[in-house]
Amino acid sequence: MAAIKAVYMQTDLEGVAGIDDWDPRFKDYANLAEGVRERLEMQRLMTGEVNAAAEGLFEAGVENILINDSHGPGRTLLVEELIPGVRIGRGKPKPAFLLGLSSRFDALVQVGMHPMAGTPSGCLAHTMSRGLVFRANGREIGEMEITAYIAGAVGIPWIFTSGDLHACREAERWVPGIATAPVKEGLAEACAIHLAPEDARKLIRERIQEAVARAAQIPLLPQERPVVLEVVRDTPWPAELNPGAERVDAFTIRYRGASFYQVFHHYRFGEPDYPLPG
Ligand SMILES: [Zn+2]
Repeated sequence: MAAIKAVYMQTDLEGVAGIDDWDPRFKDYANLAEGVRERLEMQRLMTGEVNAAAEGLFEAGVENILINDSHGPGRTLLVEELIPGVRIGRGKPKPAFLLGLSSRFDALVQVGMHPMAGTPSGCLAHTMSRGLVFRANGREIGEMEITAYIAGAVGIPWIFTSGDLHACREAERWVPGIATAPVKEGLAEACAIHLAPEDARKLIRERIQEAVARAAQIPLLPQERPVVLEVVRDTPWPAELNPGAERVDAFTIRYRGASFYQVFHHYRFGEPDYPLPG
């Protein structure tokens, strides 16, 4: 494999060290001083880990980093505090799940990851939204795997994840030998033991450099074809479904397609033949 020069960085909030509660933007005190302060602290912690990952990548010889500000509203990272040299994709509505993804990236890295819905002891475990479970060809998948399948569709390997220990273990089950940086250990939905932020950032900086150095030895996530995607809700799906969705039972819908890329974008954007990025 040629040297890793261009890296796509997927980011999320819930797996960052120091964060063990849901984004306060939906809480009733979101717009009061308490909510604003709480969210700003989370944003600072997340931005610190993203910067540490970018620093590690630059130290490892990477020249081009695109950061996807992927958590909920798509505007969580503190742009003014980003280190020079990176680019960031943010905002809504996103024209694609992985904003700005293209086949010219050499690797996918993930920062701030939480485990999939239903993970015992996982901190802030969920998949996309609370109350959803995703299955691809019968196997439950989380956001890390969704992102890795989409990047893998254009040949980009998933080489690094930081986040909750349970998320790191999950990543290692899907891609044996992937580099991980566990920055906290989830004990319950809103409870974890964390590294201090400076230590979490140091671990991310070190492990992401190992990921780049070992990238050629990290296997690709195998792409299964065709794919049946099932999305299970904890409340019944509405009477009206997206065109192409099959109702399995009140709580479960199903999409079928040639690849994960197709079925996921069909679910997300209602288009069965969503084009692959160039
Ligand atoms: Zn999130």
